[in-house]
Amino acid sequence: MRYRSTGGRAPLTSLRGAVLRGLAPDGGLYMPVEIARHTPEELEEFRRLPFTEVCFRVVRPFATPDVPEEMLWQIVAEAINFPVKLVSLSPALHVLELFHGPTLAFKDFGARFLARLMGYFVRGESRTLTVLVATSGDTGSAVAHGFLRVAGIRVVILYPSKRISEAQEKQFTTLGENITALEVSGTFDDCQRLVKQAFADEALNQRAFLTSANSINVGRLLPQMFYHVAAYRQLPVASVPLIVSVPSGNFGNLTAGIFAKRIGLPVARFIAATNANDAVPEYLRSGEYHPRPAVATYSNAMDVGNPNNFPRLLDLCRNRLENVRKEIWGHRATDAETLNQMSAVWDRYRYISDPHTAVGLLAWEAYRKEHPEPSQGLVLATAHPAKFAEIVEKGIGVGPPLPSRLAEYLERPKLSLPVSSNYEDFKQFLLAH
Ligand SMILES: *Cc1c(COP(=O)(O)O)cnc(C)c1O
Repeated sequence: MRYRSTGGRAPLTSLRGAVLRGLAPDGGLYMPVEIARHTPEELEEFRRLPFTEVCFRVVRPFATPDVPEEMLWQIVAEAINFPVKLVSLSPALHVLELFHGPTLAFKDFGARFLARLMGYFVRGESRTLTVLVATSGDTGSAVAHGFLRVAGIRVVILYPSKRISEAQEKQFTTLGENITALEVSGTFDDCQRLVKQAFADEALNQRAFLTSANSINVGRLLPQMFYHVAAYRQLPVASVPLIVSVPSGNFGNLTAGIFAKRIGLPVARFIAATNANDAVPEYLRSGEYHPRPAVATYSNAMDVGNPNNFPRLLDLCRNRLENVRKEIWGHRATDAETLNQMSAVWDRYRYISDPHTAVGLLAWEAYRKEHPEPSQGLVLATAHPAKFAEIVEKGIGVGPPLPSRLAEYLERPKLSLPVSSNYEDFKQFLLAH
């Protein structure tokens, strides 16, 4: 498969080129030049074959010929070594639990796959590849764990000081080895700006071999199609139109959902479920896109003022507002609504949702009120409630059970380096280390 830039002014490249560069040279985001639909017969097979085989078949057209088939199989099998669970709260409402991976959040899919793919692509390189990541919470831990001890690669993670939970922070600042965490005095948008500036800095890129593992990297989006297939395999009734509610921040997850729809999976519509950082729901309502500085909320992994996958969404919808509206419906939730929703879902179903999933559940309910025709909702549960234990406890009155792998990290000392949000300082750091 060849990859093009949404900017339209960069040469086509291979998957290797797209994955190692991250951002295209014209500042655009890489997209596959085509997305082939699977036939209904092939989709039917997806329900029966082993999951690894299905994931392999889904990603193969995007990875050939760059990655030999045996290698691709190995990457898929090693990366997706945990289950996707569908929980039906009612006949018309399902929750897809994407948090059974090592860092208890859906980003494990993208990060584990990407780490192995990059590991393959840098074999034989003499220089060490530096992966730069800005995180508002969960990306950091997923990427750190995904890349831990991958040969030839070091990871530098930037995160906003005091704006993420202790559980999130401890998961990626305690690892050491090839993982360095920089604690930035600033917001997530500052972290994202530093990373973008580093990639745009030609002098720096001549001296350092840099790439990104943020959701701008197409290598993270491809494996996020897998769980849409997992849902399709497990849904009790496939004939009722499916509405997929996606708790969204940078909109990588929703972009991958549209990829999955384009390869043939039946999804009637997606819901862009956001917290107060609602640039996309606002765009769907007014037709105007106004990125803004991020504001802090309870669902902090979605505290993104300028979603970096927005150009991909537009591109997938041929840059037309009416197409975007057909594909996506938007909803924003306040913190108060999010807390209430956690409590309502607990009372009604005895189900504990984390704040991000609660935002998704709220959006589904709002959609349902405006669209009474028959449909079923699939809400992506993006994080384990234990990652946001304090907020969950505030919502439902009891703390969620703490999985042992999370408890272990809380005991370890934090190894991060405090830094300013000044670009020159950051550049000096990259050149010195
Ligand atoms: C990253 C994240 C999101 C947002 O996903 P995007 O792909 O950035 O839209 C939602 N929930 C959780 C728990 C996350 O970690």
